[in-house]
Amino acid sequence: MNDASALYDVVVIGGGPAGLAAAIALARTGANTALIARRAPYADNRTTALLGGSVDLLQQLGVWPLCIDQAAALLAMRLVDDTGRLVRAPEVTFSSDEIGLDQFGYNIENRTLMMALEQRAAELANLTRIDDGADTIRPADAEVAIRTRQGRSLSARLVVGADGRQSLCREAAGIEVRRRDLNQAAVTFNIGHSRPHRNISTEFHTPQGPCVFVPLPDDRCSVVWVAASEQTERLMALTDDELSEAAEKQSHSILGRIRVEPGRHLFPLAIEQPRLLARHRVALVGEAAHVLPPIGAQGLNMGLRDAAGIADIVREATLSGEDPGSTQVLDRYSSARRADVRSRTFVIDMANRSLLSDFVPIQLLRAAGLHLIGAIGPLRRIAMREGLAPSWRTSPTSRSVMETPAVRSE
Ligand SMILES: Cc1cc2nc3c(=O)[nH]c(=O)nc-3n(C[C@H](O)[C@H](O)[C@H](O)COP(=O)(O)OP(=O)(O)OC[C@H]3O[C@@H](n4cnc5c(N)ncnc54)[C@H](O)[C@@H]3O)c2cc1C
Repeated sequence: MNDASALYDVVVIGGGPAGLAAAIALARTGANTALIARRAPYADNRTTALLGGSVDLLQQLGVWPLCIDQAAALLAMRLVDDTGRLVRAPEVTFSSDEIGLDQFGYNIENRTLMMALEQRAAELANLTRIDDGADTIRPADAEVAIRTRQGRSLSARLVVGADGRQSLCREAAGIEVRRRDLNQAAVTFNIGHSRPHRNISTEFHTPQGPCVFVPLPDDRCSVVWVAASEQTERLMALTDDELSEAAEKQSHSILGRIRVEPGRHLFPLAIEQPRLLARHRVALVGEAAHVLPPIGAQGLNMGLRDAAGIADIVREATLSGEDPGSTQVLDRYSSARRADVRSRTFVIDMANRSLLSDFVPIQLLRAAGLHLIGAIGPLRRIAMREGLAPSWRTSPTSRSVMETPAVRSE
């Protein structure tokens, strides 16, 4: 399998969480799979709120048992209007038991999730790990030729582009991307606190964006503080004591005394939408396929649905003797994923714009919408279910991966 000139069924390029999950899911279909990704320690302190079918998928891939003991269950989500404006939305709490769930999902440090994904990937015999970066990717009629930075050549019938925002795979397939910088950024850091979080995630909506406190195991939370770029620069420049004080003030002391843990990171925010999700034997997953602001914890949850979607489609194609990189197979992937990606990008964009807007009618609309959701049970339950995963998924195949827990054998 490590022959330099090998032809693989699928080569996944990029070893972030979406790429690793896709590589594991694809290898489990029986496809002869390679993953081109540099092995490097995970470099930031982000966490992921894994919602809806994401935990089922990780369970099915054999990843979840390796990290569940380091994740915190999310039982409720609280939205608090902290804009200080004349028109304010009422506070809304979503409780998982209201829709018959024990929890909405789990919050986990990306570093921990990545270690579990790496460990599982190393166990699969038909997944070849190439510890390198892709240098050139040349799609042709029958296969894609790939050359790595260290000069290794290989080819694939299908390339899965999981190489993030500056995707070389996307460029090689000639897929254009629409990008909009938001002039907002997110500061991420973790905290210890003196009062228990009771597994409730609390989102304070400020006029510059949301500031979210998401439970971690014990008396700890991860914080994602979205604000205008100048404000986030100021937050980054504070000492740990000053940031602890600022976070305590922003949280209205609901978590008691706050102590910021060492290490914080800054993420400039943008929305990126490629015009196509697949072309010329290349299918995009994760941030190569969609970049959203971190509102409503949608990014990686969508990336995991991409991973499940491409694996299901490749499995079906293989069973029916089809070429996994053919135009028909890529079209099936695009139509299975397009509506989810577009609708979520639209909703998150609108939620962000309505929060930032100084236009009173927009503020009234937002407040009325949240009032209705807070007051009308059935509406609130629809909002909760849609926030977890799209109810109308178009592909029966991706439904099978995401909704049937751990049924397939290796
Ligand atoms: C502040 C913040 C909070 C977030 N919180 C949540 C949350 O709670 N829930 C959620 O679902 N999502 C969340 N997200 C989104 C989530 O973090 C991203 O969707 C996710 O990390 C993207 O993973 P990825 O694997 O697609 O991309 P990346 O993690 O960027 O991985 C891409 C990988 O490809 C590699 N690569 C690039 N080029 C090449 C090449 N030529 N060859 C080989 N490898 C290459 C890169 O080195 C990198 O390792 C958040 C995002 C932010 C900014």
